[in-house]
Amino acid sequence: LRVLIIGSGGREHALAWKLSLTEDIQCPIVSADFPALVDFAVQHEVSLVLPGPEQPLVDGIETYFRKVGIPVFGPSALAARMEGSKAFSKAFMDRHNIPTAKFRVFPSSHVDQAIEYVRTCGFKVVLKASGLAAGKGVLIPETEEEAVAGLKEIMVDNVFGPAGSEVVVEEFMTGPEVSVLAFSDGYTITPLPAAQDHKRIGEGDTGLNTGGMGAYAPAPVATPAVMNQIMKDVLKPTIDGCEERFSEGFPFVGMLFTGLMLTASGPKVLEYNVRFGDPETEALLLLLAEETDLATILLACVEHRLDSVQVKTRPGFGVSVVLASQGYPGNYAKDKALLLDSSLQVHVFTFHAGTTVSNGKTVTSGGRVIAVSAYAPTLREALMQCISESNRSLSKVKFQKRHCSPSSDNKPFW
Ligand code: ATP
Repeated sequence: LRVLIIGSGGREHALAWKLSLTEDIQCPIVSADFPALVDFAVQHEVSLVLPGPEQPLVDGIETYFRKVGIPVFGPSALAARMEGSKAFSKAFMDRHNIPTAKFRVFPSSHVDQAIEYVRTCGFKVVLKASGLAAGKGVLIPETEEEAVAGLKEIMVDNVFGPAGSEVVVEEFMTGPEVSVLAFSDGYTITPLPAAQDHKRIGEGDTGLNTGGMGAYAPAPVATPAVMNQIMKDVLKPTIDGCEERFSEGFPFVGMLFTGLMLTASGPKVLEYNVRFGDPETEALLLLLAEETDLATILLACVEHRLDSVQVKTRPGFGVSVVLASQGYPGNYAKDKALLLDSSLQVHVFTFHAGTTVSNGKTVTSGGRVIAVSAYAPTLREALMQCISESNRSLSKVKFQKRHCSPSSDNKPFW
């Protein structure tokens, strides 16, 4: 099987590593020029396309490849609205009785109605730009006045651009969060162990939100009973709901990534994503049992026969820790030299997230530079291995501006 991976982050490196154990990989490439990608795939006799990020899926990459008969592990543009439009996914959950926060959707032309709603709904609210906003489109106001100001920012000042042309106002919930990534062939859904990720830049869950500074799985909070409940109340009804809407670009083929909050009244959906998560993937792929071949699973999904393969995971824990450029998630310097090759050892892996080759040298090119990932029988051991490998890497990394999480004191390491 020849697989074309689209994207260039740590997630794509981890996917390429796992697939390369058995398959022929075309180097991960980034391009929004879909016809050029199709030409490339045809020329190189690609048999399966695996988009890493959400944007190409939301932009309809699946259709381009479908037309030339190359399957894509990922949904059609219409089905990708599960991530691309929060207004769409909330309405979907409502229609299919999938537990989620109470909500209302307002077009940006209806700011007065939205303000009226936050003043009268009787609960603390969360404001969400409906479209893709690079993980930044959610505001959690502390007071009613802050909520009103937030609505004006999104709906009048357009701080999130077109992503804010519709706004979801929903009830604030509390509880631990988990991410459940599940393979789907449109009819069968098979979850991986639940993961937890760490979004903020600083220690102790402080500072600005990032694309994700680290993840681990399985999350102990997602006990077998919780996972059963998530399967019964969320994943199964989601995939059944997608199947019913066949004519609208469903059923859903690909990776359904559900963000959930485990509330006092049960698991509730925060959001759907329609692709592998980053950095969850770097941790989760280490949990696939050796005899579980990722390409076989992806192929079974695109051929709607996931029930014919076994997705076996191994006991133990996968952990991924991101090393980031100083300044991230704000401005940061690029082109800092790295004296580091991918270490793909037996249980510890250095996945490149934001690096490139310039004049024959590996240099930093992104905020999140490296994802160090480890597998071990216990969570503590996996974490310790990650930290010691991170420190070993950092001693070899020559990029001067850098920031590392987790660290004991949240100070840069130089
Ligand atoms: P991501 O970057 O994870 O894709 P997103 O921008 O698509 O995020 P959400 O996942 O919907 O948006 O929300 C981001 C974060 O905001 C959640 O992980 C959660 O911590 C918080 N959040 C969202 N909705 C709620 C809610 N109803 N109650 C409490 N917190 C919430």
